[in-house]
Amino acid sequence: MPADKGGSRALLRALRAVMAGPGDGQQRLDKVVRLVANNMVAEVCSIYLKRDEHTLELCATEGLRQDAVHSARLRIGQGLVGRIAERAEPLVTEDAPSTPGFRYLPETGEEIYHSFVGVPVQRLGQVMGVLVVQNQTRRHYTEEEVEALEIVAMVISEMAEAGAFLGSEGVSTSLGRRVGPVVFEGEGACEGLAEGVVHLHEPRLVVFDPIAEDISVERARLAEAMEALKGEVDQLADGSEGVPREQREIFEAYRMFAHDKGWRRRLDEAVNSGLAAEVAVEKVQSDARARLERVADPYLRERLQDLDDLANRLLRHLLRGEVPREPRLPRNAVLVARNIGPAELMDHAGKIAGLVLEEGSQTSHAAVVARALAIPTVVQAVRITRDANPGDRIIIDGELGRVDLRPEGGIIEAFREKIALANQAKEVYRTLRGKPATTLDGHTVRLNMNAGVLADLPSIEASGAEGVGLFRTELQFMIRQNLPGRDAQAVIYSRVMDAAAGREVVFRTLDIGSDKILPYMRREEEPNPALGWRAIRVGLDRPKLFRMQIQSLIRGARGRPLSIMFPMVAEADEYRAARGLLEGEVARLASMGHPRPERLRIGMMLETPSLVFAADRMFQEADFISVGGNDLMQFFFAADRENERVRRRYDVLNFSFLRMLRQVVQRCAAAGTPLAYCGEAAGRPLEALVLAAIGFRELSMRPASIGPVKRALLAADLGDLRAAMERADRSGETSARIALRAWAEAGGVPV
Ligand code: PEP
Ligand code: MG
Repeated sequence: MPADKGGSRALLRALRAVMAGPGDGQQRLDKVVRLVANNMVAEVCSIYLKRDEHTLELCATEGLRQDAVHSARLRIGQGLVGRIAERAEPLVTEDAPSTPGFRYLPETGEEIYHSFVGVPVQRLGQVMGVLVVQNQTRRHYTEEEVEALEIVAMVISEMAEAGAFLGSEGVSTSLGRRVGPVVFEGEGACEGLAEGVVHLHEPRLVVFDPIAEDISVERARLAEAMEALKGEVDQLADGSEGVPREQREIFEAYRMFAHDKGWRRRLDEAVNSGLAAEVAVEKVQSDARARLERVADPYLRERLQDLDDLANRLLRHLLRGEVPREPRLPRNAVLVARNIGPAELMDHAGKIAGLVLEEGSQTSHAAVVARALAIPTVVQAVRITRDANPGDRIIIDGELGRVDLRPEGGIIEAFREKIALANQAKEVYRTLRGKPATTLDGHTVRLNMNAGVLADLPSIEASGAEGVGLFRTELQFMIRQNLPGRDAQAVIYSRVMDAAAGREVVFRTLDIGSDKILPYMRREEEPNPALGWRAIRVGLDRPKLFRMQIQSLIRGARGRPLSIMFPMVAEADEYRAARGLLEGEVARLASMGHPRPERLRIGMMLETPSLVFAADRMFQEADFISVGGNDLMQFFFAADRENERVRRRYDVLNFSFLRMLRQVVQRCAAAGTPLAYCGEAAGRPLEALVLAAIGFRELSMRPASIGPVKRALLAADLGDLRAAMERADRSGETSARIALRAWAEAGGVPV
């Protein structure tokens, strides 16, 4: 085996000749396996390629039975070859048949081979297949030999991307990207419909010559590109004054990576092994992906995105002149990316019609920002960056989580009808904007909006919200690389109040922990984070952080009325302690000359069942209470809100839950304490009607929900609804939903 660099280089040169030489795709594949087997003194060399997402197919072999080519198949995860594809990791053994997981494919005649080494064929972190070498005798493959094989696999993947194997049976479909209409069933992360054209966030780069003709030339190219990259990143970091702090901090992190010696060493090694500089960059990046993707720490996984970005910048320097630097955004651009950072997405505000990500989740930071900017967004659209081409037509439904790439006429028509209907409804909501939400039987419900970043605030006018019933302050912390200081926080809170133009904004103090993770805060692993160290518990245990936020809020208010509430209070003493700290800060700042808020309202969120049963005094002490139904539901039903398997299992309209809410309404009424509901359910028309019917007179929801909820309230008689609900309860139904749907339909109430 060519353990030495010279040997592997000779092999690479020979591969290059195969690629440039005559023959169709299959002939080239056959030549590749022959060449690798000869060069590596192996009896067998085979290439298995993905036929579809689940299946690998033997596409070429030297040494195994030729009639097994294109007929021998195995599933991803099955046998040693399947396991390599699944884990994207090499596998080496001196005795394959006795290795756990071994599965013998009788049609190939491979039972006589003992030694086995296989490596994934992958490009940009996506496994396309597996390259295997086998020997009859037991032999030990060295690390250098495995590395050499990985380099060959890298070249094969580049050759495939450049179309070298097109025309071979099974290869065009397994390696080439899908053509024609493709539907992706992802997850909706921000509702809304968008029709537009694909704009790839990082356009795919195709390297037509993956093997170095002259290594010294490649070394020089890499060195030059590295210098250019460092210069670019230094400039970004140095010249970023005036740029928002979080962006500046990202550039600083880039600078650190760009100057990292380990990264440079790995790149040099890859170039020295005979790869073209671009392929060397991709190889190092693929390795980093494989390593970091297995890491559980979300902070480290986020760093992968920075590294990807940096590697792409380096590639651009290498290919300077061959690819446009920053392709212009087309009109109606739908941004398609593997993933995107929150700061980068902010840069696209107002310029894109939609966003589709391969990775991400509904709670990832990009999704948070997308919702703030009201960009229809679908996440988990698996493999879309591979299948989509710049300029392709694309339609996305951010509610259903569906993406149609290159849709056919019928689909487009149906989609446009849906857009037209949605626009009509929006027009109706617009006409309701100035009207109070008063039901047919004369109950008026105050409708507020939930917010979390400054970009949310313009929706206050557009939606007709009467105020902000929940400002999730932690979002400002989550989209940054560092803890925002007192001044930065004060500026944000002040701007939020400016934008609300005199309407009340209820600021919730930091609600971190559980699913809300700050990248810069050290975290202890907790066996059950939803029940762990989070929300007000963190605030009280870290009084410095808590007081800093309170001070920022008081300063930001500059004497204006201020409303603050504490998240997930579970017992009276927590509220009292937090209130004590808050009042202490007001007094302290006043003594330093800062104006006291004209009016201070201090409330708490009711998110744990324990609080429902607290002493009367508790209800009297709070200036107001806001029910955080998302958390209250998860604790009431013992069903994790982040766990897809259970989160939709129980209904908010379940009578047990409603009985508890009714008790909260009664206790607040008895104490004369204002009560609101700010969980997701408040934004769904039928649920909002039920909340109003049991006595809630203030609801806070996503801005887009205000129109539909108001329309439903205007058309409803709450007394009627209550009667229908009571009938269903008496008849022993678990949830009020079915009966109330029928009630709404019969009465023409739009829910
Ligand atoms: C809730 O729990 O209902 C709530 C509004 O807070 P969050 O969703 O931010 O936990
Ligand atoms: Mg909550």
